[in-house]
Amino acid sequence: MTTSLFMRIRDRFPADTSRVLMETPDGRTYSYADADQESSRFAATLVALGAQKGDRIAVQVDKSPESLFLYLGCIRAGLVYLPLNTAYQAEELAYFMNNAAPVVFVCQPGREDEVRHIAREQDVAVVMTLGTEGDGSIIDASQDQTTDFPAVACADDDLAAILYTSGTTGKPKGAMMTQINLWSNATTLEKLWGFTRVDVLFHALPVFHTHGLFIACHCVLLSGSKMYFAPRFDRDEALKVLPCCTVMMGVPTFYVRLLAGNDFTAETTRNMRLFISGSAPLLPETFMAFQRRTGHTLLERYGMTEMGMATSNPLDGERIVHTVGQALPDVDIRVTDDAGRVLPAGQVGVLEARGPNVFAGYWKMPEKTREEFRDDGFFITGDIALIDDRGYVHIVGRAKDLVITGGFNVYPKEIETAIDDLDGVLESAVIGVPHPDFGEAIVAIVVRTDPCLADQMIIDAIKGRLANFKVPKKVIFVPDLPRNAMGKVQKNILRDQYQNLF
Ligand code: AMP
Repeated sequence: MTTSLFMRIRDRFPADTSRVLMETPDGRTYSYADADQESSRFAATLVALGAQKGDRIAVQVDKSPESLFLYLGCIRAGLVYLPLNTAYQAEELAYFMNNAAPVVFVCQPGREDEVRHIAREQDVAVVMTLGTEGDGSIIDASQDQTTDFPAVACADDDLAAILYTSGTTGKPKGAMMTQINLWSNATTLEKLWGFTRVDVLFHALPVFHTHGLFIACHCVLLSGSKMYFAPRFDRDEALKVLPCCTVMMGVPTFYVRLLAGNDFTAETTRNMRLFISGSAPLLPETFMAFQRRTGHTLLERYGMTEMGMATSNPLDGERIVHTVGQALPDVDIRVTDDAGRVLPAGQVGVLEARGPNVFAGYWKMPEKTREEFRDDGFFITGDIALIDDRGYVHIVGRAKDLVITGGFNVYPKEIETAIDDLDGVLESAVIGVPHPDFGEAIVAIVVRTDPCLADQMIIDAIKGRLANFKVPKKVIFVPDLPRNAMGKVQKNILRDQYQNLF
């Protein structure tokens, strides 16, 4: 094949490349021509620094238009883009450097000394910086480089990116994303969600994660549309900008925050055609409140780092609350039992997926990769789900969240749903903590809206609804649940915090 992910993306740029691709809150605008030229400069700079096709370029920087151009520069030069969460600290960086052996590490200007020190110890030869104001040593080095760097041809199964995913246990694993993984998902989603040139995407997601980087940016790049590129989600900023946007992609927390004040109204969303939610479970209450307040029905979809998106509620057609929709057109899904047997519609088991979007395996972890694939190519997602008779997927929980209490298997999601349904409860997280009799005991961490709601009231209400072994042994009230940047509740933090309750 003589093409590449980059060439395919660039072929989709509008003929008039002066069209705006990105606008930032401080009023800077960047065109498609900028994306073309800056990605060329970055590609040439990285090659001049010694990077060759297939080499990894680790990037731990704050979100900025230049960070997106750097991604494009990497794939233009046939390099493997390796974005890292800015929250990662020294020990984690040492692990990533050691594991992925990047030839260049691009860091935030303020952390240069620290990163250089780690890079020396891990034999990473080159450290560059990139700031958020068009500053940094990689920008300086790129100034004299060509704006016409010829894109390096790649095969479909050449790597385009490695994204580390941190499971709840063990070391982070580098999910190897190929050229075709990213391209297939990008074209499928752009079509499925009806992106056109006139769209304006409100982009407030981080760009070290598949959601903000690939799902969001590729839909825009492929449709020649524009995005409002915010460094982070800020409610006031969102209220100001949303009236000029047509699409928003967010994690559920964004929508909860928008709904938190009455100044978010149907008027704020008057130009919007689509709100998409994913990366963490959307509470039915949020779905309903959003519909009541704005008249819009949130479109929930499901995916993971290892496969981009796998299912989506429809653009036209019924978006069903508490489901993540149907399999994407080019993705096969199924639910299996513990022995790997395929289960009929309506039965709960592990969700598996197969398609051109599914990753090539974990970097340098052939064993782990083998464990997570079936012989016929299905990837075992680890999410517990059922597929109903209309093909809609209902996520029931995470296999790794499973609590075994007194010999019974309990999926926390079922208990969380029951608690969340109670009056006076905003949300909850159910975990298992060590217990001398039961092995693990179920504990519910609850955020209440009614300060008079007592723990015993919750326990009594759940007793009436669920089997006894699912009733929490303790209920703990907290002001908020700990969440990561993608809005996922960090149960590992809760498990650590409450490990000595019994
Ligand atoms: P990540 O690799 O960070 O994208 O996380 C992927 C995981 O997020 C999935 O395996 C699911 O457990 C969860 N997830 C993603 N989207 C949804 C959704 N719409 N509803 C529930 N869980 C989701």
